[in-house]
Amino acid sequence: MKKISGLLILIIVLVLNVQSQALVRREINIPDISGYKTLKCDFHIHTVFSNGLVWPTIRIQEAWMEGLDVIAFTDHLEYHTFDKDVVYNDNRAIEVAQPMADMYNIILIRGVEITRKQPLGHFNAIFTTDNNALRVPDSLKSIAIANQQNAFVFWNHPLEENGNWFDVQEQLYKQGQLKGIEVANHNTYFPEAQQWCMDKNLTMMSNSDVHNPITFDYDFSKGEHRPTTLVFAKEKSPEGIKEALINHRTVVYWKDKLIGREEFLKAIYKESVLILNTSFSFKKDKKNKAVILIKNNSEIPYQLVFKNDSKNLNLPNNVTLAGSKTTAIAIEYTSSEAGVKTLLIPFEISNLLVLPNQGMHSEINLNINLE
Ligand code: ZN
Repeated sequence: MKKISGLLILIIVLVLNVQSQALVRREINIPDISGYKTLKCDFHIHTVFSNGLVWPTIRIQEAWMEGLDVIAFTDHLEYHTFDKDVVYNDNRAIEVAQPMADMYNIILIRGVEITRKQPLGHFNAIFTTDNNALRVPDSLKSIAIANQQNAFVFWNHPLEENGNWFDVQEQLYKQGQLKGIEVANHNTYFPEAQQWCMDKNLTMMSNSDVHNPITFDYDFSKGEHRPTTLVFAKEKSPEGIKEALINHRTVVYWKDKLIGREEFLKAIYKESVLILNTSFSFKKDKKNKAVILIKNNSEIPYQLVFKNDSKNLNLPNNVTLAGSKTTAIAIEYTSSEAGVKTLLIPFEISNLLVLPNQGMHSEINLNINLE
């Protein structure tokens, strides 16, 4: 009887070990640009090895299902909520999850969060080689050790808890020890941080800082996604990602916004959007009605605000190009002058932020033949 129950337990354990339902990945549909791969990354994630509520392997599966390519574990050096149950070791989370990351082809980056009071605040070091070596009382020493390990150090949620660009940030920046800032973290966008990144040539980051199971914080059934750093890498490898981060080739993907340097936002928009018809034949002195068809091959819902100053043309002020769909923009054109002309319609894309809270300018050219 004892033998049978032992066997039964073994069978139950084996069955439970195999997932009963296949996992499904959704792809984040944002194009590659300018010869670079657009990698979808979250560089700020917690596990049970600090104060997160999730086992490291599950973080890999969450990331895979959500369409991410790269994640970093950044458990707090200072908080170990579960240290009665989980052995105190700041390198352990990545060791536990690496086989799962290999299985799912997720690039897993070693990282750690250095969590101190103001004026310093919270810093992440990623691409560290030994997190345990950073656990020293002096916070600046901890950051220096990270830099000695050739880590990429960035400042987390910089304006939370009355944070600001204080002397200590200036000092780290001047020493080359600070390379990036979170322009978005979880539910917050920091426009000031975007400006600092532009003024000081730092890398813009967007991360979840997730502690809960990811589905507790984001409703995927409503199309929500976690804050994601888009990295434009020469290759999908840890070295490729680091090279891109050092050279500031990132864009912040936060809620329905892309935030970043204009050259990248312009390239993403150009690769995403195709205007299907730009030539129209109209009759003179008539109210000519037509539609401009615009196909959006990405998942970004581009929000166009037209700045039409033509007396001859009527079109809506605001149009959203829904993700992965074609939008018809109704226009009306009236003129008494026959002939061929080019009509330029300027607009702003209000959710592509090239400056703090400021959209990107673009234009559509229409060829009009009036008979
Ligand atoms: Zn954190």
